[in-house]
Amino acid sequence: MKYFDYAATTPPYPDVIRTMAEIMETQFGNASSIHGYGERANQLLRRARAGCATAIGVKPDEIVFTSGATESNNLAIKGTVLRYCSRGKHIITTAAEHASVYESVLQLQQWGWDVTWIPVDSRGVVSVDQVISAVRSDTVLVSLMHVNNETGAVNPVGEIGKQLKQKAPRVLFHVDGVQGFGKLPVSPAQWRADLYSLSAHKIRGPKGAGLLYVRSGVEITPLLSGGSQEHNFRAGTENVALIVGMAKAMRIAGERQSDFTKSIRILRDRVMDTISSIPELQLNSTKEGAPHIVHFSYPGMKAEVALHTLEQLGCTVSTQSACSSRSAEPSRVLLAMGRDEACAAGGLRISFGDEHTEEDVAILEKALQQMVAQLRPLERRM
Ligand code: PMP
Repeated sequence: MKYFDYAATTPPYPDVIRTMAEIMETQFGNASSIHGYGERANQLLRRARAGCATAIGVKPDEIVFTSGATESNNLAIKGTVLRYCSRGKHIITTAAEHASVYESVLQLQQWGWDVTWIPVDSRGVVSVDQVISAVRSDTVLVSLMHVNNETGAVNPVGEIGKQLKQKAPRVLFHVDGVQGFGKLPVSPAQWRADLYSLSAHKIRGPKGAGLLYVRSGVEITPLLSGGSQEHNFRAGTENVALIVGMAKAMRIAGERQSDFTKSIRILRDRVMDTISSIPELQLNSTKEGAPHIVHFSYPGMKAEVALHTLEQLGCTVSTQSACSSRSAEPSRVLLAMGRDEACAAGGLRISFGDEHTEEDVAILEKALQQMVAQLRPLERRM
């Protein structure tokens, strides 16, 4: 079976697993304890913090460790709008965000915040001008993703950050960086981002570990109370083993990014060309998108049927994002891109990782052709 669902999650590097196991066995101290066990755990934590900070070009004390990007996004959004509610109650985001951003903002809207939902174009990309012109005197936060998790569409976060800070320096800028790190060059500081979320398990680190970059000087109201860990922004005993695993995965992903981007883009383009050559399939990703994701629709066919057929043919892919793939609803992201219901309900995502080879891609291309040949007689009867 070939696994093509790296945007959902990735197999941790063997070295990451070994390091984490060793820490759990030998360095189990609580990093807040003042005895030797605690001090050794704290030292590991400090080193991991410095490593994560270096990987994204920020300062160690700007890193807040979390349980993953769902928490980082909730903390970035709710933590800042609660802290800065005296500045106003207006938030800007898009309809194509990951559920952890989308639903956080929806919840705030239900609690009385005013939200401008910026549309995306047919490629899934937001317009700089539309974001900037939505800024008002009571805007507190702009929250956008770097790379879309369903389609791989890349938002111009650098340009948005620059223009946002020229127009309204006090408006906070949050970037959900989960699908971009390790796949494209990233620089939250150059983008003028105040907050930047990452997740370890998308880059061959462990599940249950993530971070939020909080630019120094920015404050957030903690969502979890109970301890002074993580600069008082996130209470709870740090999971040192997972955090060290994440730091290691970030170092490897950062070092390999440029080579990975080049090699995976070649394979991705090949798969895109194959999909374009099959008349039943409709591409939803473009070659300008992130190098590791290809999204396509099989209009008139249920996505689960296509997914299971591909699985029988030896290839694991995904419908929508993993967080929404058990939902029967058409993809919110594809609807936001202006696709019709049939297209939005028949969407499949292929996503690549650093282990994929030309041989894997040849197997995938053959499976796609066989899948359509097998399902053709069932089309539109689904
Ligand atoms: N944002 C994006 C863009 C994602 O792809 C994901 C994971 N699907 C998340 C946030 C949430 O990350 P986690 O799984 O670490 O909670």
